[in-house]
Amino acid sequence: MKYVLVSGGVISGIGKGIIASSAGLLLKTTGLKVTAIKIDPYLNVDAGTLGPLEHGECFVLKDGGESDLDLGNYERYLNLNLTNENNITTGRIYKAVIERERRGDYIGRTVQVVPHITDAIQDWIQRVAKIPVDDSGEEPDVCIIELGGTVGDIESMPFVEALTYFRYKVGKGNMVNIHVSYVPIIHGEEKTKPTQHAIKQMRSAGLIPDLIACRCERPLNTVTTQKIARSCQVEFEQVVTVRDIETIYQVPLLLEEQGLLDRLREALMLDQLPLSEPLVRKGSNLWELWKKTVVSKPYLDPVNIALVGKYIALPDSYLSVIKALEHSAMRCNRKLNLIWIDAEHLEDATLQSDPTTYHRAWSQLTIASGCICPGGFGSRGVPGMVKAAKWARECKVPYLGICLGMQVAVIEAARNLCGYVDATSEEFDQHAEHQVIIFMPEGSKEIMGATMRLGTKATHFQPGSEWSKLRALYGDNTIMEERHRHRYEVNPDFIKELEQSGLNFIGKDETGRRMEVVELKDHPFFVGVQAHPEFTSRVLAPSPTYLGFVAASIGCLDEVIRDIRQQRELSDKAHF
Ligand code: GLN
Repeated sequence: MKYVLVSGGVISGIGKGIIASSAGLLLKTTGLKVTAIKIDPYLNVDAGTLGPLEHGECFVLKDGGESDLDLGNYERYLNLNLTNENNITTGRIYKAVIERERRGDYIGRTVQVVPHITDAIQDWIQRVAKIPVDDSGEEPDVCIIELGGTVGDIESMPFVEALTYFRYKVGKGNMVNIHVSYVPIIHGEEKTKPTQHAIKQMRSAGLIPDLIACRCERPLNTVTTQKIARSCQVEFEQVVTVRDIETIYQVPLLLEEQGLLDRLREALMLDQLPLSEPLVRKGSNLWELWKKTVVSKPYLDPVNIALVGKYIALPDSYLSVIKALEHSAMRCNRKLNLIWIDAEHLEDATLQSDPTTYHRAWSQLTIASGCICPGGFGSRGVPGMVKAAKWARECKVPYLGICLGMQVAVIEAARNLCGYVDATSEEFDQHAEHQVIIFMPEGSKEIMGATMRLGTKATHFQPGSEWSKLRALYGDNTIMEERHRHRYEVNPDFIKELEQSGLNFIGKDETGRRMEVVELKDHPFFVGVQAHPEFTSRVLAPSPTYLGFVAASIGCLDEVIRDIRQQRELSDKAHF
């Protein structure tokens, strides 16, 4: 197993995850099988108990793991299905060590950060790196380890310590460290001092910078690169620049141009790894396809999509949603123009401290060709989302409701079509008379960590739903499988009335009691899904739900469905 450690210095949030994913992609294009581990030095056991405004969205894995959003980057770039264990946190490591201590595994000894925590980190990495995560079902060849935060933070010390031992443990030629730094430009001058300090700090912690990736607004001057190399005691070739670029998908190209793959090949002695001819061919085909797909197309017409959400103060709260919309727009040859609308601004003008925000929000919403209400927790912003759903339903504007967005569409219909003006969710009012959304019986009201309905679950399209656009998008199948993360569900007691009012629950779980998909028949596209299909969208394979929504917003849904049906016929024939 080869390891690529990606650490960061100077400041966080400069795209370490993208650089790590891009390095992984480049390795994959040589035919290697790549996996990834993200280390988050916080004490939460997982990201499930963090609000989206803290570190961005919680990415849900196939096995139900609630993880850091960087795992989403790895899945999208490298087409992987990672496991809950691919995200290491301080909380998770300490929990495991303390459980062992209670069991008596260390009986008689003092349990300490060094060696017990540092050993647990190393064992975890070595064990998890071997888990098959791609379509080959085989053990990976290379593991990317991304260390969150910046080297020097108190929280990351045990991890840095563990990784310095780990390098010696795995031996020469089996581990490289890419350190991501930041080169600010002050009054037009490229400043190298922060990088020099970051590298000094890294060395004093015991880490070795094999490559320094400098983030910068623009390409660095050669003299700056020379200066960084000299002052950090590395070769000129060991410094690469990652300038701001039009799309993050072009970062692998930028790194390839600067010889990153050659450096990795040398440092990790990759030529010694046996690679079969079909794998090499698969890798180079992937590279050709990637280059073709990510080429800039500034001439494309935009598609205007309004995202009505409650966490829009931090766009990363909706990272996978944005990516899924982007993938779909790319497939339809359009450029995504996302219109960010704070759901609270759509509420009554009288409630706004500044009424102009209300008018601005509504004028922005009404110029959009499609409206998406994504997931969320708690009542803040819900009244605005309900209004947006009503507008989209009545004005026949494509609507996609994701999880909370689906529940909102049901509440809206209960209020405005069934006449229950007080209809709401148990989540927002525990005493309301008409709770059309209720707490799921198997949930826990005491324990908040990992107790939601999580991970991949099957949705069964119901008999008589052959007209459904969503079903057609899933290849006219009887089942769709997507990842879930929710505590509440549609109240089965109201289904009959809601259906009579025009809502169609065309997708249910295997018991038939849990509503998974709602769709309107006489509407260009009005779909609510309890799942989060954004988590499985890929650059080269957009999520069918999102593709349908974006295509409907452009006006090309029929063509997209026709294409899907044609593809299916072809593959059925090939099967015979
Ligand atoms: N808060 C809602 C629930 O728990 C919706 C969750 C979500 O949007 N992910 O069911």
